[in-house]
Amino acid sequence: MEELPIIYIDKEELKEFCSQDLSEKEGISYEWEKEQVVHIKLNPSLHSFGRIGKVAFQRGDFPFPYGQSVPWIKDEFSYIVYVLDENTARVFEVVEGRLIEKKLYYIPSKDDLYSRSKGILEVNILESKRVMIVGLGSFGSQIAIELAKAGVGSFSLFDFDRIELHNLARHTCTIKDLGRLKTDAIYDAIVGKNPYAHVDKFPIDINKNIPLLNEEISKADIVICATDNNKSRFNISEELVKQQKLGIFGRAVTRAEGGDIFRYVPGGPCYCCLIGTEWYDTSAEEITNIGSGRRNGQIPAYVSDEDADAVVQVGLSSDIEPICNLMVKLTLMELSRGEDSGISCLEDELVYDYYMWANRRERRHVNWAPLPNAGNRPTILRWYGAYIKKVEDCPLCSHHIVLDEGEEYEAKLGEMTDMKDVD
Ligand SMILES: [Zn+2]
Repeated sequence: MEELPIIYIDKEELKEFCSQDLSEKEGISYEWEKEQVVHIKLNPSLHSFGRIGKVAFQRGDFPFPYGQSVPWIKDEFSYIVYVLDENTARVFEVVEGRLIEKKLYYIPSKDDLYSRSKGILEVNILESKRVMIVGLGSFGSQIAIELAKAGVGSFSLFDFDRIELHNLARHTCTIKDLGRLKTDAIYDAIVGKNPYAHVDKFPIDINKNIPLLNEEISKADIVICATDNNKSRFNISEELVKQQKLGIFGRAVTRAEGGDIFRYVPGGPCYCCLIGTEWYDTSAEEITNIGSGRRNGQIPAYVSDEDADAVVQVGLSSDIEPICNLMVKLTLMELSRGEDSGISCLEDELVYDYYMWANRRERRHVNWAPLPNAGNRPTILRWYGAYIKKVEDCPLCSHHIVLDEGEEYEAKLGEMTDMKDVD
């Protein structure tokens, strides 16, 4: 039978304690009440555990015979940790002034944790990469967590919304997160998967903070646009073209009957080129809540909240997931492009600018073929890729740039490429 309570301690913190040259320090124990599971921490940790206790960290081995009553131990401490070295410790539970030694489990230190997760992906490559995610709704939140699991080391997160009840069905966050900023909740989810990830949080509206948006794009290796409005897609697209940075755009259409993904590659067609094509239909945009519907102009001001409620149509989380999944694959492939990783072969497959997916034969997909015997006709639950034509006179990415004064000049491709190297 396993010994209870189950106690975990973090090797990275043992290392920290040893490096501080202290003989003792106070720590904290977090316990899941009634579950007999305890995490011992040297530093305060963000938690949603039950009971919290005091822990005394001591340098060196336990000086007394096993189980002996130690008069100086005050009941205010729940546990005493004797730190032998940065890899070894002994833990004692304080029970009525007596110390009872307990089995200790270790959370591995950084290097060890990474070597364990080494598999199909080259963790060392991804650890140094920075991904910017704009929008932490059902798309952005899932993508952030998947990328953290894959080993991406650095994130910048943009969303100014808080977790509300209507988010829960499709969001990775739980009822415990109600009222929290999405940036804070997703920060926790990322460091919960990779405690060594670097995460910068921006709970702001990017459309009102263009200079910050631009600065963060310049630091990112790839930008994921998972917002629910065209204004932010335009703003991001414009800067991606200027800075010649990679970008992935994804969205669902009404009730997530389907969705699409656009990948911007420097020099290729931009999001604005796409919007000008027949593929795109803004009226089909999914309206996920009244607030954003009003902000985006999808729900006019004269429509009451009651009537607006009928307009809000959300799809199932399982209908969003296939789209998130391909966005994650595209991102990982781009981040490790040219490196010898287990997903290198995808570079021969995921060559398109635009990807389309249908969950059900409804509305815009009503004329698609039924799945059985579809032959070469488009059908549901399959990805379709397409090349998008670069629009000759696209206002964003065409080499003919029209200045405010009406002056037109031919920007040389060289100049566009040079911009990438400017800090
Ligand atoms: Zn364009």
